[in-house]
Amino acid sequence: MAVFNDGMTETAVPESAVAETDVVIVGSGPAGASMALALSRLGVKNIMLTKYRWTANTPRAHITNQRAMEFFRELGIEDQVNADATPHHMIGDTVFCTSIAGEELGRVLTWGTRPNRHADYEAASPTLNCDIPQTYLEPILVKNAMREGTLGRFSSEYLSHEQDADGVTVRVLDRVSGTEYSIRAKYLYGADGARSKVAEEIGLTYEGAMDIAGSMNITFKADIAALVEHRPSVLYWVVQPGANVGGIGTGLVRMVRPWNEWLIVWGYDINEPAPEMNEEVAKDIVRNLLGMPDLDCEITGYSLWGVNEMYATTLQKGRVFCGGDAIHRHPPSNGLGSNTSVQDSYNLAWKLASVIKGHAGPKLLETYTPERAPVAKQIVLRANKSAREFADIFAALGFDKAKNVKEMVEGVRRRKDNSAEGLATRKALTRALELKDYEFNCHGIEMGQFYRSSAVVSDGSKKPKPQRDPELYYQASTVPGSPLPHAWVGDNVNKFSTLDLCPSSQFTLITGITGEKWATAAKKVAKKMGTPLETVIIGPGRQVTDLYFDWERLREIDEDGVILVRPDKIIAWRSTSMVADPEGALRNVLSKMLDKAV
Ligand SMILES: Cc1cc2nc3c(=O)[nH]c(=O)nc-3n(C[C@H](O)[C@H](O)[C@H](O)COP(=O)(O)OP(=O)(O)OC[C@H]3O[C@@H](n4cnc5c(N)ncnc54)[C@H](O)[C@@H]3O)c2cc1C
Repeated sequence: MAVFNDGMTETAVPESAVAETDVVIVGSGPAGASMALALSRLGVKNIMLTKYRWTANTPRAHITNQRAMEFFRELGIEDQVNADATPHHMIGDTVFCTSIAGEELGRVLTWGTRPNRHADYEAASPTLNCDIPQTYLEPILVKNAMREGTLGRFSSEYLSHEQDADGVTVRVLDRVSGTEYSIRAKYLYGADGARSKVAEEIGLTYEGAMDIAGSMNITFKADIAALVEHRPSVLYWVVQPGANVGGIGTGLVRMVRPWNEWLIVWGYDINEPAPEMNEEVAKDIVRNLLGMPDLDCEITGYSLWGVNEMYATTLQKGRVFCGGDAIHRHPPSNGLGSNTSVQDSYNLAWKLASVIKGHAGPKLLETYTPERAPVAKQIVLRANKSAREFADIFAALGFDKAKNVKEMVEGVRRRKDNSAEGLATRKALTRALELKDYEFNCHGIEMGQFYRSSAVVSDGSKKPKPQRDPELYYQASTVPGSPLPHAWVGDNVNKFSTLDLCPSSQFTLITGITGEKWATAAKKVAKKMGTPLETVIIGPGRQVTDLYFDWERLREIDEDGVILVRPDKIIAWRSTSMVADPEGALRNVLSKMLDKAV
């Protein structure tokens, strides 16, 4: 039997029939499930396939950055994510040590928890980052997507597809009954992970290499609260002989649930035969990284995986698109994988919805590659650089020159010496740990994505010069292509973020009291073009007022100017002041970016 999806109900139909939907999504990971939820919220029919019986069974991604949280806020699940997450204030005391019970080499306050960085994070977004294991996040996404209309098909393997001028026919294997069936859709989204079959079939082009280092995950249960609770973090990095081989920079003891569920990431030499894993080997590695030779722990899983440094340079072929790890493959350093995956989907979902509903022409879909491929490249290179930058810690301790384990141990001890060498070691270690800000406080990379494409219309201005290091610091701007800056607005009862004013179901114009003519113009344009377009006037006595005058400081336009915000909260266009013909200006911009003549 196949099924039809009318958005609300499933109807069994004879096997010979072909199920129909608007979008087939392959994968229920962070990319696929968030695409499903976003499309369902926008009223677009979709079927989400996953070849397994349930969602992720290992807690890989955890760090959920502010951009991803903003998306979850938009999707109405921010509270559900926070309820299952380890909160922001418990995630930042990142420790570098010889083992959990061994010597501590230093700590770095991470993910914006250092007081002098916390303000940057608070100012940038209405929501803070948190730490939620992928095993907890995916069910939230899937549950909400299916509640909103997604037809989720588990144990359903994507086999192949064929596309023509009108749509895509997707071939699926039902792994429970062993039968095959077809789904006819308008579009196909391959969110099928790092070994994406969809990407391979459409011949996406890539740069970089796969399997550049060998790594393993070991999950285990052991209550080690006494050793970690006083320095609460999600990451405990273990620097000891052997830790500089393969892996993601050094050994990692990763909190899954405080303080009794853990994930170890440990490397191996990719040029040697892969280690043979079993429960005893896994236990030995756990005991070694914890520095507790007699630890009684429960091993809950282990697997080997390769570190990749590869990004796609094209993300689409006709009616087929890929997102998530299918287009960016990199180590977990900087915690960018799942975060970027959900943002790929956020970028594409409104575009698919606009084209499917007839609000935009199909050229809008061609802006996905120019907008997201540079992000894929940026995060793949950054994550790999961060993994390599652990080398400075090893060099500070003399591991790079050491001929044997004894000399490495001596390097660790040397930092305590009252000698010129001891002083040099301490200084080098401080610098090496400071460099880790590029992995753990890399706010500019997390937040500062900037798009150039035909879905952004320039107002002639350039992206402002960064006032601080653009990787470490996010700089808000309203230059078209930037994410909408956050400021608190509201009235004496309500408080909203500027981001809350711009739901993904519409384009939004933001102006001030002297810009009210934009609102009249917008109404006419929306009617003529059939484009959902609403205006928010910020000012006293209007829908919302600028509670702390932050919006005035951030908007970079006059009060009578306007900012046009896309459904994904990216600034599509702005006018620094009122123009003679606001209706003409808006029509011109929207028809250009939406590939739709009026
Ligand atoms: C140790 C570790 C730690 C990490 N930590 C972080 C972190 O802190 N923060 C972060 O942002 N990222 C982190 N990541 C990365 C993150 O896990 C990935 O980037 C993320 O899972 C990618 O999501 P995705 O949806 O693209 O793919 P996946 O999660 O790989 O999902 C792929 C989906 O496709 C389905 N599928 C595949 N083939 C088929 C098929 N033929 N038919 C049907 N279904 C199919 C699978 O069933 C699955 O549902 C970490 C990764 C690792 C390994």
